[in-house]
Amino acid sequence: MKIFCGQANPISGALDWVEESEEYDYHQEIARSCFADMLHDHDRNVKYYQGIRAAVSRVQARGERVVVLDIGTGTGLLSMMALTAGADFCYAVEVFKPMAEAAQCIVEKNGFSDKIKIINKHSTEVTVGPDGDMETRANVLLTELFDTELIGEGALPSYEHAHKHLVQEGCEAVPHRATVYAQLVESELLWSWAQLQPIEVDNRRLVPPSAVACCAGAHSVCDIQLSQVSPDSFTPLGPLCTMFSVDFSKPVSSAPQTYSSRFPAQTSGRAQVVLSWWDIDMDPSGTIVCSMAPSWTYPNAQPAPWRDHWMQSVYFLPIERRVTEGEEVALTVCHDDYSLWYSLQSNSQRDTNSEATPCRPCCTCQAHLVWTRPRFGELNDRQRTGSYVSALRSVLKTDSVCLGVSDGSLLPIFAHMLGAKKVFSLEHSRMSRQVIEQVLEANSMKGAVQLLESTPDQLTTSDLGGEQISVLLGEPYFSTSLLPWHSLFFWYCRTALVGLLQPTATILPCAATLHMVAVEFQDLWRIRAPCGTCEGFDVGPMDDMVQKSLDFRESSESEPHPLWEYPCRALTQSKAVMTFDFTQCVPQQQISSQGLLPFIRSGCCHGVALWMEYQLNDDITVSMGLIGPIGEQGACEWSRHRRQGVFFFRSPWESLGDGSAGVSYSFTFNPSLGDIKMDFTVES
Ligand code: SAH
Repeated sequence: MKIFCGQANPISGALDWVEESEEYDYHQEIARSCFADMLHDHDRNVKYYQGIRAAVSRVQARGERVVVLDIGTGTGLLSMMALTAGADFCYAVEVFKPMAEAAQCIVEKNGFSDKIKIINKHSTEVTVGPDGDMETRANVLLTELFDTELIGEGALPSYEHAHKHLVQEGCEAVPHRATVYAQLVESELLWSWAQLQPIEVDNRRLVPPSAVACCAGAHSVCDIQLSQVSPDSFTPLGPLCTMFSVDFSKPVSSAPQTYSSRFPAQTSGRAQVVLSWWDIDMDPSGTIVCSMAPSWTYPNAQPAPWRDHWMQSVYFLPIERRVTEGEEVALTVCHDDYSLWYSLQSNSQRDTNSEATPCRPCCTCQAHLVWTRPRFGELNDRQRTGSYVSALRSVLKTDSVCLGVSDGSLLPIFAHMLGAKKVFSLEHSRMSRQVIEQVLEANSMKGAVQLLESTPDQLTTSDLGGEQISVLLGEPYFSTSLLPWHSLFFWYCRTALVGLLQPTATILPCAATLHMVAVEFQDLWRIRAPCGTCEGFDVGPMDDMVQKSLDFRESSESEPHPLWEYPCRALTQSKAVMTFDFTQCVPQQQISSQGLLPFIRSGCCHGVALWMEYQLNDDITVSMGLIGPIGEQGACEWSRHRRQGVFFFRSPWESLGDGSAGVSYSFTFNPSLGDIKMDFTVES
């Protein structure tokens, strides 16, 4: 069977739907899955093991034969733990075929194949009875079906079904219970991901349209590594509330529920954001707890266990609201079978409207569909706006004819506000045009920027009212870009537009530079590192499967990661390795760059981080990667707005940092593909 996969095309700026084999799709799924990260999660594994031992003992103490149901067995890890703890038999259910095959292989390798039956089905398809998948109902229920939002992977319907059809009444469940916590905060930083703030341009204020300001926003959860958001960047307005618990040893309902927590506001402020995480008690007494609480909740700055498969959630309230110190408020969480949402009520609201269930947020203004959360953050970044405004001011004249090329961009509006004679903007998507039009209208600038639907190669002088472009503007930002260099689409647009540019036209940015630095990751290395053994079980076949999938296409490519969430230390200096001169057209010939970057710090080098910097004019550069100098110990500060590229080495390298070794690099930009091939080797 053939399937279609989205692939960024830097030449057309489009997300191409490339026909791939079904095999490609599942290799992608395996290569990009969090299995390695999960198996490296020692805290999780140890606690599951403790909980499983305790549950097996409780059933044995009742004099019963221990029959286990492991829903979503993955590598078979929890089933192998249960048998080692003394269980008699395990039914291990796994819906994803390659994973079920790997589980079979792992279970055999570890000598458990006679006591574990792998069932390659979704648990809701599993049957019980003499001819069924399971001979009898189980009395121990093991699962790990949770995501960052707890229920987003369908844990509730799976539990609901299992209690009705697959397990005995009074079964022992590991985990036994999950609890969701939430805290109401004011945070300019986090709120800047949800709402467009007023933007100052040359003493004039660009205000957000009211439709955007009163929109409840995107409904999808914002999952992040909250440990990397400093407590200095938010103010708690209430205590950490226990919102609700689910007991997994009793029948579970996936029906929608609403829970509220009342408290007096701790301080006056703007209620904007809810920070949330959960924990799971592995046993009924709650002595074995696996918690997702971020690092800053731990005493003495002790780091929280690191994991990427479970992070923390940020929810944006449908509308920002002032609360005053001491005011009684109620924080309400609603959930359906797959997602959660929060709202805030004051005392008076609750009394008059206590029955109404707050509805699930849904974007009504389109801006939350056009702008992603990091993009909102980027548009709200005052320092960044300042750089673009200064650069624009330095090039604009009263007779300037500007054309903007970026998606959902405010830059053309800035150009108008700064006095350009005429401003056009290529906004290919209808939704983007509508959003930008709303911004123009809200600021009494209707028609000030002419939004064009055309692609750069179709654009004609008549689309520009007979004018020639004197200033071509880009941030550049394109919604289809995944890796830093995908925004080179701007260069291809500039090339396609050459016939419409005045001979002396200014191109802003005038150049882009690709930068690299070799790094030691504090934790991110775990997502790609082989596991070998996990809690004493050989999970090698899993490693082999992941490696095979990586080799299928991807192992010599980089992947996008928001590095501000994943601390790393620079082991080399950062280096500009390739420059793309936007004042010229895309050349016919390849551009290549080779060199050696010596290790200047000791550490374990896991790979290379890559990003673009845009030169707006002779003096102003904006970085999509490092946004400050590298610290003495190698500390890096990354832009939060864009993902950086990460190239993981197949095996890490221990650097002595004495200059005796270095990373040799080779980059080749192929203009006919718009792609950059890269290769790195450590030389000593
Ligand atoms: N139990 C393993 C793996 C957990 S990952 C461990 O703890 O290491 C969750 C796995 O459950 C995934 O492989 C996913 O494919 C599978 N899964 C999720 N819901 C399922 C369901 N209802 N029935 C069967 N498999 C399911």
